[in-house]
Order: sequence, then structure tokens, then C-alpha cells
Amino acid sequence: MPTTPLTLGLVAHDDRKAALVAWRLAHAAFLADKTLYATGATGGRILEALPDLSLTRLKSGPLGGDLQLGALIAEGRLDRLIFFVDPLSPQPHDVDVKALIRIATLANIPFACNPATADLIATGLA
Ligand code: PGA
Repeated sequence: MPTTPLTLGLVAHDDRKAALVAWRLAHAAFLADKTLYATGATGGRILEALPDLSLTRLKSGPLGGDLQLGALIAEGRLDRLIFFVDPLSPQPHDVDVKALIRIATLANIPFACNPATADLIATGLA
């Protein structure tokens, strides 16, 4: 019986986007058969590095992209969330950030806010 490919959400605050692109490149084999969603600017940065990648770009995070990812989680359509947050800078859309982390927690999906935890997801340990 065929299995449905895992669906991942990718999002990073501005100072963490380079780290997320590096993580995406480092785990190309794991991600090869995954369905990917990303917030607008994060997705743009990933596509700069991998122009042929199949990835659905949502709205920019501060303009509703974080909430779109949260809606996918609420609908049971997102299996994993990789969300590299910047703990050193205030975010104007902090309420959206909290909402996304809250729904990921409530839905009990594996989610990573830093590369060390994201590595565990990519290696199947989370
Ligand atoms: P962005 O959104 O990828 O559009 O920059 C990220 C965020 O929520 O801060």
C-alpha cells in the first residue's frame, strides 16, 4: 500500500534564514520525497539556492504566512514544522509566531526551532 509522503513546513526569521537554507541543503536526501511548504521570504531564499525545488510558497510570515502554516497544521495537513526562530530580535508578528508554535504543540507534531532539533527530525529520531 503506498504511503503518503510527509509534508513539512519551513520558516525562519531573517537572521536564521541562512541557517535554514544550510539545513535544507545538508538534508537533501531526507527531503527529496517530502512535500514542502514555506513562508514567502524563507521560500524565496531556499529557491535561490535550489531553483528547481518543488516548494509551495505561502504569504510572507508577517503578512499571514505563519498563520497559513498554522491552518495547515489545524487541518491535519502538515506533519513536521521546521521553524528557526531568532531569540535575540523582537518580531512585529510575535502573536503569529506564538500561534504557530501553539498549534504545533497542540497538534503534537514534531517541530524544531533550532538546527540541532531539526537534525533529529531529518534523521528520523523525532
Ligand atoms: P518570511 O516569514 O519567510 O516571509 O520572512 C518568516 C517569519 O514568519 O518571520
